Amino acid sequence: MPDTVRIGLVLPDVMGTYGDGGNALVLRQRLRMRGQDAEIVSITLNDPVPDSLDVYVLGGAEDSAQRLATRHLTRYPGLQRAAERGAPVLAICAAIQVLGHWYETSSGERVDGVGMLDLTTAPRTERAIGEVVTRPATGGLTQTLTGFENHRGGTTLGSDAAPFARVERGVGNGVGDGTEGVVQGSVIGTYLHGPALARNPELADHLLETALGRTLEPLHLPDVEQLRTERLRR
Ligand code: GLN
Repeated sequence: MPDTVRIGLVLPDVMGTYGDGGNALVLRQRLRMRGQDAEIVSITLNDPVPDSLDVYVLGGAEDSAQRLATRHLTRYPGLQRAAERGAPVLAICAAIQVLGHWYETSSGERVDGVGMLDLTTAPRTERAIGEVVTRPATGGLTQTLTGFENHRGGTTLGSDAAPFARVERGVGNGVGDGTEGVVQGSVIGTYLHGPALARNPELADHLLETALGRTLEPLHLPDVEQLRTERLRR
């Protein structure tokens, strides 16, 4: 096990709408609460992307910012190498689109993606905005997921990509198949902002357990549980 778990916050200067950078803070805090040293490594547009970190998080973005991120991640393929060796990656909203084969912006321009995920994204007729509730469709997760979505893109998964969850309320991937997000190898993508890991601690621990290669003892945080219960009741 590493002395210090290194959490890569990828391109917070261009990707991180709705406080998605908070996902890195949640990962660090849940490790520290268990006595495990952890640090956040911010990778900006001025830095090459290292392939040696333990876990990576990427946030959402507007169309123009997501184009800058796409160019940077293509030029410095450290994230792709890290995922190939099984490092967990969490991609939120625009980051799903960036990591796919291609995405079309709201103005109809097609941009080549990084190609890590077998999916494509094209604009929907209407923006998807609002609260989302989903059931996880991926192994290892059992708890209902909640978050907030705001995206124009609708994402179609290819055969190498599996849905992350099934939509109970909200839009999700938005192509009529009831799916939300994506899982492919060690990469998990979701349209959920919140930040997603603050709202869904089971997902945070799932990423950490993949990074560490061992199970973690549960954390009992009554305030977090109460917030979850209240949100789900609404
Ligand atoms: N620009 C993308 C879209 O509208 C992603 C938006 C976001 O990350 N919130 O689909």
